[in-house]
Amino acid sequence: MLDAPGKALIEVSGLKMYFPITAGVFRKHVGDVKAVDNVSFTIYEGETLGLVGESGCGKSTCGRAILRLYEPTAGAVRIDSKDVLAADADTLREMRPKMQMVFQDPQASLNPRMTVAAIIGEPLDEHTSLSKKDKLARIYELMDQVGLNRDFANRYPHEFSGGQRQRIGIARALALNPKFIVCDEPIAALDVSIQAQVVNLLEELQDRLGLTYLFISHDLSMVRHIADRVAVMYLGQIIELAPRDPLYVEPLHPYTQALLSAVPEPDPEAEKTRRRIILKGDVPSPANPPKGCNFCTRCPKVMEICRQTEPTFHEVQPGRFVACHLYQETAD
Ligand code: SF4
Repeated sequence: MLDAPGKALIEVSGLKMYFPITAGVFRKHVGDVKAVDNVSFTIYEGETLGLVGESGCGKSTCGRAILRLYEPTAGAVRIDSKDVLAADADTLREMRPKMQMVFQDPQASLNPRMTVAAIIGEPLDEHTSLSKKDKLARIYELMDQVGLNRDFANRYPHEFSGGQRQRIGIARALALNPKFIVCDEPIAALDVSIQAQVVNLLEELQDRLGLTYLFISHDLSMVRHIADRVAVMYLGQIIELAPRDPLYVEPLHPYTQALLSAVPEPDPEAEKTRRRIILKGDVPSPANPPKGCNFCTRCPKVMEICRQTEPTFHEVQPGRFVACHLYQETAD
C-alpha cells in the first residue's frame, strides 16, 4: 500500500476502444460498440488503482487496451513516459516485459499441455537468452516467490487447485521483472476461502518488488482492501475516481452511491444504518448510449440538463474526480 503518490507511471488519456458493428453482405459499418469511451487516468509508481464496475462496463477491455492486447480506436497510453499506442512492433516487443497481465481464469489462461516450468519459462524463452541452467534457476526462484513447491515444476496445470493455478499465472507475469501488472479479476474464479490468500500474495509481491497494479474487479470489498485509489466505470466511462477511503466513506457520483450501498459495512454500527439504493432499469447498450449523461436513464437524481449535456470529468476536491452535473458548478 502506497503512503504518498510517487511519479506517474501510467498515463492514460482519451482512451477509446470501439468495436465496429457491420451489416449486410458488404459488411457496411453501421455503428460501434463503445466499450471504452474517452477514459483518462494516471497510476502512480507503486500504487494500486482499483477499477470497479458491473460486468460489461468495459473495465477488462480498458485493461487490455492499455497493454495493447487490443488496438485502441483513439487516445494515448504512456508507460514510464513511453507511448504504448504509437509503438511499432519492435518497440512494443521491447516494452512488453515491463507490462504484464494476470488473467481472471487461470484454468483458461494456462496451456494444459505445458508443464508449470514450461509455462513460467515461456516469457524467458521469448525475451531472454538465459542458459538452460539459469532459466531453471529463475523458474525455481519465481515458484518460491509465489509459494509454489519447486518439486511440482514438471506437473501440468490440471494437477493444481484453482489458487495454485493462479499462482502459476502470477509467476509467469513476474518472469521478466515487470513494473506494471494489470490484474484482471484475478480472484473472481477462485473459491472465497482462497481469494484472500491470492490477494495477500499480490500485496506481498508489490511491497517486495515495487510493483504497480491496475486491479480490475467487481468485488468492491476486496478493492477496498487492496486499492490506494479507486476508479468507477459505467457504460465505458470512468464516472468517479478518488482515493479509497473518501470514496467508500462519501461517494459523490449517484452511481457510485448505488454501487457502494450494496456493500456490507465492516463496522456493525455503520451496517445498521446502511440503506440500499436499488437502481431501476437495465444498463443501456454500449452500442447506443443515452444522450447527455450516460447514467441519466437510471439515475435517482436526474435533472433536465442531464438528458441534454454530457457532464465533464473533472476534479471537484483535491484528488477527487467526478463526471456529474450535481458537481459541475464547482469546476467553473
Ligand atoms: Fe445523475 Fe445527472 Fe449526475 Fe448523471 S449528471 S449522474 S444523471 S445527476
